[in-house]
Amino acid sequence: MTFDPETATFLIAGPVRIHPRVLRAMSMPSLNHRGDYFHGIVEEIRSLLPVLFGTERGRSVVLSGSGTAGLEAMYSSLLPRSGRVITLVNGNFGERTDALVRRYASTVVTLSAPWGQALPYDALRAELERGDVGAVCVVHNETSVGVANDLARIAPWVRASGALFLVDGISSVAGLPLRLDEWGVDAIVAGSQKGLAAPAGLAIVHLSDRAVERLHPGAYYLDLAAHLKSLEKNDTPWTPAVPLFLALREALVLLKEEGVAARLERTHRLAEACRNAIEALGLELVPARAIASDTVTAVHNPPGLDDRQFRKRLERDYNVLVQGGQGALTGKIFRIGHMGIADWPDLLVTFAAIERILQTHGRLSRPGAALNAVVAQMP
Ligand code: PLP
Repeated sequence: MTFDPETATFLIAGPVRIHPRVLRAMSMPSLNHRGDYFHGIVEEIRSLLPVLFGTERGRSVVLSGSGTAGLEAMYSSLLPRSGRVITLVNGNFGERTDALVRRYASTVVTLSAPWGQALPYDALRAELERGDVGAVCVVHNETSVGVANDLARIAPWVRASGALFLVDGISSVAGLPLRLDEWGVDAIVAGSQKGLAAPAGLAIVHLSDRAVERLHPGAYYLDLAAHLKSLEKNDTPWTPAVPLFLALREALVLLKEEGVAARLERTHRLAEACRNAIEALGLELVPARAIASDTVTAVHNPPGLDDRQFRKRLERDYNVLVQGGQGALTGKIFRIGHMGIADWPDLLVTFAAIERILQTHGRLSRPGAALNAVVAQMP
């Protein structure tokens, strides 16, 4: 078997596999983005977005651009001009947050933990208690190391401080439980290509009512106030990525049909199955299990096998795609994404292939154990 993108078992950490209905939705002739038909699409998307974010409060904006465009829109339009801004780092995307925030804020306090470890919660609390914090910027799900950061824990401290609570939810929205109102999140960014299972290329920013009032001009193309104003007329300030909006509508309809609770439950069970299977193989998760993410599982490469012998072989011999590591972890870890419409057959094929590769290298001590671990979690 050789790699075939049309039939691959596709479990990278996003983009994720896309349902044929969503793919077909994009196959339309060009539409007039200033015409009634397209405005109707935008209207429908607007009516469906509360499903995605689990709240009827606040406002959402759809931007043409990948997740980072949403982050840039959020930070450039909301970071306060005065006061300290806290960034939290425990992986690659936390580091990127810090770099991005430094473009738009003058006084940044970076609170870091080693990649893959829990955020420095006590340091955050102490820093907030010192006062004069304008915003806290955090990655909900640190995709690079498969860690779910604990927003519920920090939410009361952030709320009490009065700081804006700004969240990168690119790999958590529609994958991890979200309580935006309860946590007092002021802005969160979702990416189309992760839990939503739409194609890459759209960012969706959800804003609290307080954040809407605090918007100020930042980046021009990504000016959230301008986008909100256009959206009132089901319009966009600039030419939108029309086919991606069509895909987004269908992906949201699919999510509504499945139900967010059902999608989260499946994502969680797949994650549990994946973690159990990894442990059954005697492999080591990157983070402690207690903080491991439900949307992406990060694993140290099997001892003695390099990326070429392992991940590339999965791709070449079994048509299975998982993802490698980033930064200093390149070549050292692999990551299995199990969000969006990922399902049991994906995991079964993947672990069958992993077992076989380990076996051919004489490193499989308990044949069938990983597969059994997956089967045991199936509904
Ligand atoms: N933040 C997180 C947590 C991510 O997982 C990603 C992408 O994987 C990004 C930011 C960057 O998003 P994009 O590549 O869509 O710009």
